[in-house]
Amino acid sequence: MATGTYAFGASVMTVEATQQSTDRLLHSLEQAFGSDVIITDPDITVGYERDESRFTHSHRPSAVVAPQTRDQVVACMELAHEFGVTVVPRGAGSGLSGAANGRGDSVTLSLHRMNRITAIDPGNRTVVVEPGVVTADLRAAVAEAGLYYPPDPGSVDFCTIGGNIATNAGGMCCVKYGVTADFVLGLEIVLADGRVLRTGRRTVKGVAGYDLTRLFVGSEGTLGVVTEATLRLVPRPCPAQTLVASFPSLESAGVAVSGIVERGFTPSMLEILDRTTIRAVDDLTKMGLGTDVEALILAQSDDPDATDVLAGIEKICVAAGATDVVASDDPAEGSMLLEARRMALPALERLGDWLLDDVCVPRTQIADLISSIQEIADRTKLTIGVFGHAGDGNLHPTIIYDEKDTESKQSALNAFDEITSRALELGGTVTGEHGVGHLKKRWLAEEQGPVGMDVHRAVRQALDPNGTLSPSVLFESEEQ
Ligand SMILES: Cc1cc2nc3c(=O)[nH]c(=O)nc-3n(C[C@H](O)[C@H](O)[C@H](O)COP(=O)(O)OP(=O)(O)OC[C@H]3O[C@@H](n4cnc5c(N)ncnc54)[C@H](O)[C@@H]3O)c2cc1C
Repeated sequence: MATGTYAFGASVMTVEATQQSTDRLLHSLEQAFGSDVIITDPDITVGYERDESRFTHSHRPSAVVAPQTRDQVVACMELAHEFGVTVVPRGAGSGLSGAANGRGDSVTLSLHRMNRITAIDPGNRTVVVEPGVVTADLRAAVAEAGLYYPPDPGSVDFCTIGGNIATNAGGMCCVKYGVTADFVLGLEIVLADGRVLRTGRRTVKGVAGYDLTRLFVGSEGTLGVVTEATLRLVPRPCPAQTLVASFPSLESAGVAVSGIVERGFTPSMLEILDRTTIRAVDDLTKMGLGTDVEALILAQSDDPDATDVLAGIEKICVAAGATDVVASDDPAEGSMLLEARRMALPALERLGDWLLDDVCVPRTQIADLISSIQEIADRTKLTIGVFGHAGDGNLHPTIIYDEKDTESKQSALNAFDEITSRALELGGTVTGEHGVGHLKKRWLAEEQGPVGMDVHRAVRQALDPNGTLSPSVLFESEEQ
């Protein structure tokens, strides 16, 4: 066995002591619930080593605990607290910041088996779910009741509600409907010591006490484990109409986006794809999006007056220099274009090694951000695919590089830093939706400043003084 030490909270344990503590935890869980809840086969636990991020530290977890009930989560956390074992909660592992990555000294707590939709309440427009429900399944289930759950990350078909809550996931709907936080009314949380906390409410309004629900949304598994969520639903909207505009330059598409926002339009989707992304998607899907197009804007409206909304957006696109604008009220065509957008990351992945950024600026600054990314790409000679939720000011510049070439790798990291820094200069944030995880710890400190980080640490210390939950996420000084 390897020797060494692991630090967590205030204490330091040897590798041997950590393994013994983990063994005791697993043994106790097995005694109480049977061997089904525990996975130690290294061929399987290796699948829990990392999420979908790059450039993030990861290790095969010492074991995976896969509970089916809240009581099993409680037992796991009580035992982890008692024996000093660290725990990393995990949903589907689709995260893009490394927050669900395993640690060699930690147990990964995979919530994927807790996947029941407990109650849909059409009268109050709410749904109660367990954390392992796949987001697309939830959306389909409530649609049958004539209701709509808007959050739709690009990973909607495989990510989980628990992961969405813990990352405050966004998606294409945010420009009109907001982010996951806007739909979470209340949570059931198992705290780091195993106590069960209920936050929030099931009512439309409610102001009793601090807004603990919001505190846990976006906490990336560092403050507690979500075991149940009460979510707000809205009436099912009209079928969306879609518009696609082609531009002769990425900058002119950026100007159109700023114009659409400034003029007060609220499309239900406003996405942008640059030439690199369009070509990559075309190569993968053979959709024929256009070989001579420099940028595309995809807009949808699900308002009753969608035709007028899209006509207004069309005018702004043409004024900004769009060379071609096509509108369609055919839902099948709309879904196909949406699929093209969802394929952006998988398509860019095929171009080489990649480093994905996620920055968000005030929406009227989107054209400036785009110009800066173009300038960085030209200067560094790197291919940077740009796509994202332009209507929110949230872009995902994807830097393509060669992992085997040290210079190319360093250049990619420098470009990543430059883009992130530029977003801050423009009054934006270092992460619009993917979270801090491991990838952006330095940048969190940069954005929050010393007082902001002190408050973050105080909150964490109050809820998890031993550093049991995800000890290497968010905070720079904590051990990797
Ligand atoms: C192709 C692709 C497209 C994507 N598109 C988008 C997008 O449009 N918008 C967007 O926001 N994200 C997007 N993502 C990122 C990712 O899908 C989201 O961050 C998603 O919310 C993660 O969900 P998950 O279930 O996979 O969580 P995981 O990756 O397993 O975990 C993410 C975080 O949540 C924590 N966590 C998970 N479950 C719980 C729980 N029950 N209690 C406490 N903490 C928990 C983990 O510890 C970790 O911190 C995309 C990813 C991919 C691969």
